[in-house]
Amino acid sequence: GEATGLKRLAASELILERTNAPRTPPPSQSLVFGANFADHMLSIPWNSASGWAPPKIHPYAPLQLDPSAVIFHYAPSLFEGMKAYKDVNGKVRLFRPDMNMKRMNMSAARIALPTFDGEELTELIKKLVALDKAWIPSEPGHSLYIRPAMIGTEAALGVHPTKDALLFVISSPVGPYYKTGFKPVALEADPSKVRAWPGGTGHYKLGGNYAPGILPQMEAAKRGYQQNLWLFGEQELLTEVGTMNLMVVKKMADGGIELITPPLNGMILPGVTRDSILHIARDHVSGKHKLDSLPSKLTVSEREITMKEVVDASADGSLLEIFGAGTAAIVSPVDRIGYKGSDIHVPVTEGGSGPIAKAMLDRITDIQLGRVEHEWSVVF
Ligand code: PMP
Repeated sequence: GEATGLKRLAASELILERTNAPRTPPPSQSLVFGANFADHMLSIPWNSASGWAPPKIHPYAPLQLDPSAVIFHYAPSLFEGMKAYKDVNGKVRLFRPDMNMKRMNMSAARIALPTFDGEELTELIKKLVALDKAWIPSEPGHSLYIRPAMIGTEAALGVHPTKDALLFVISSPVGPYYKTGFKPVALEADPSKVRAWPGGTGHYKLGGNYAPGILPQMEAAKRGYQQNLWLFGEQELLTEVGTMNLMVVKKMADGGIELITPPLNGMILPGVTRDSILHIARDHVSGKHKLDSLPSKLTVSEREITMKEVVDASADGSLLEIFGAGTAAIVSPVDRIGYKGSDIHVPVTEGGSGPIAKAMLDRITDIQLGRVEHEWSVVF
């Protein structure tokens, strides 16, 4: 900050270098997630002696880094995932970018990478997205996936706080997660595979948290399950679904409905979608914004939930829904959980989803696309 004499990240210092070879975005029907990138990217170098250099928007291009750069050895790496949408009037919208900026700064602080003013980065992301507006597909369910990232770039071996870093942002046009209605997923719950633990870093969005999850997913896939249901501890607490937060819906003894998600206890990534679902549910309960699509008697619980509770609920018929929640799919209904050699079946109705997952998907997309006015949707 100012007091240390280090330069702050300042959107007003932007240097803009347009491509002189604009490409044609691929046809929307043929989009594969994360395979195509828009014409421009944003780069902002940082140095521990001088602070943030002026931000630069420039043609999308490979990075050049020294083989000794710390990123390649000790993984000082973090990322974010957010989306820009074209609304019915052709205007561009972001969804709760302040949440991504907050989480990105938390991740940075945890691995001794520099923090920054999130509002300044949001301004720069808006400029980048506006410049590459032609890359935002406008068909329903399509969007421009935005990937901010930060890496340590100092060319020096030895585990130490990096003296150089690079914050960069790229973007990728993406199609709808579900092309033809919901497709419920099967999860494998294997207590021997652990994604995160108390005192660990599972609640930060660090590159290093993700590579170790790939092999368990491949192994689950071999046995016919698309994702891991990550458990923790002797109690077999449910934590997350693949790279999504977890939601469980149960019928209560008094006939009411309980929406459960594990608490932010250091093992759970604080998802933007998770937080949005909790707000929507709580606004319904409080009467601030009632939804006809949600049950009139709803209890919202951020609490621990064990495999035993899920097995028991499945046996007595009180297990109503399980779904993942994240930016990519918004909601991802689960219809089956492989656990200790047999399958727990989870009800899905309404064309592959449960009613609460469907209600949340509809409400969130209405907000994202500006079909309803809401402070979460940032128009520019
Ligand atoms: N959990 C993990 C481990 C994730 O990687 C993600 C994706 N960022 C989420 C949950 C969902 O977070 P969000 O709703 O912000 O996309």
